[in-house]
Amino acid sequence: MATKRDYYEVLGVNRNANADEIKKAYRQAAIKYHPDKNPGDKEAEEKFKEAAEAYDVLSNPDKRARYDQFGHEGMHAGMGGGGAAYGAGGFSMEDIFRNFGDIFGGHFGGFSSFGGDFDGMGGQRAVHRGSDLRIKVKLTLQEIANGTTKKLKINKLIPCDQCGGTGAKDKNSYTTCATCNGTGQIHRTVNTFFGRTQTTQTCPACGGEGRTIQNPCPKCKGEGVVKGEEIIEIRIPAGVGEGMQLTVTGKGNAARHGGINGDLLVQIEEEKNPQLIRDGNDLIHNLNITIPTALLGGDVEIPTIESRAKIKIEPGTHAGKVLRLRGKGLPDVNGYGRGDILVVIDITVPTRLNAEEKKLVEELAGKPDFQKAESTRNQNIFDRMRSFFR
Ligand SMILES: [Zn+2]
Ligand SMILES: [Zn+2]
Repeated sequence: MATKRDYYEVLGVNRNANADEIKKAYRQAAIKYHPDKNPGDKEAEEKFKEAAEAYDVLSNPDKRARYDQFGHEGMHAGMGGGGAAYGAGGFSMEDIFRNFGDIFGGHFGGFSSFGGDFDGMGGQRAVHRGSDLRIKVKLTLQEIANGTTKKLKINKLIPCDQCGGTGAKDKNSYTTCATCNGTGQIHRTVNTFFGRTQTTQTCPACGGEGRTIQNPCPKCKGEGVVKGEEIIEIRIPAGVGEGMQLTVTGKGNAARHGGINGDLLVQIEEEKNPQLIRDGNDLIHNLNITIPTALLGGDVEIPTIESRAKIKIEPGTHAGKVLRLRGKGLPDVNGYGRGDILVVIDITVPTRLNAEEKKLVEELAGKPDFQKAESTRNQNIFDRMRSFFR
């Protein structure tokens, strides 16, 4: 790797140069080596980047002080802040336009090719962004448990196929915006009570694009977008819940004049399952058993996410008891394990007995084990229920 040139030498200023001189020197270098003026010239590109790097350091008092004291070594990692950016071959063109775009204001407007290769690189001119689209997707418990892929037909703005999204009839349909001279911005000097202030605003004539379309595309009337539809595949991870929102980047409405697409925002809705009520990642099933099963025990069936399962009821099971089927609930959306199925027991009490049944129950009621009415557990049913239905 070639040794780095001194930053002052790069910009052609002396070591005592003030901020204005440094800015002026950088602007001159940037204009001289600007890629629009030197298309395909690698050396000019390197010089353009080198100047940006020098300007980044010398225009920042902290970085400049560190550079003055330690030289290029002071700019590397370990010195805290800023140095790392130069480690791997300096700035990208994108960085330069993003960080120093304001430097070019007014100076590049005159170049007819300005921005041609740099659309969307964050330079001076505004790039339109399409609006976000919102849709709702209803999922069954099974789909939530396993994750799913939904193919949906979405009505949205799509790029016009006739003009390729540009909105222009052809390549020669553009003129540089006369209002802003192609910069996309207008500067105004305003006299206020406190003195003269310069304000910058997006050019209203061209919407910040720096150029206007003289001959609009007949199909989209110059918008670059038309109403259309797209079939979009949406991958939904397991464990999502009611109201969660997934973002599918770039699948929203297309933007005017070939800008950046909006996003598709997918809101999750749960199809209620009356058998398995969701509580976080757990699923609650209210199970009714008969009095004989409560007394004698037995096997009963309960619903699970995929099918049904048999569970054992112990003899002497009281109402309110909760049985836990570990790991049979929903997977955590962030991958932290799986919830349980909680079976909350209730006992069905017949409301009408025939004469024979009544006689049998009366007989039972006389037996010692049927004469006590007290809680079979320290914790009563209501506390237990409360802890599950927080
Ligand atoms: Zn304009
Ligand atoms: Zn069109």
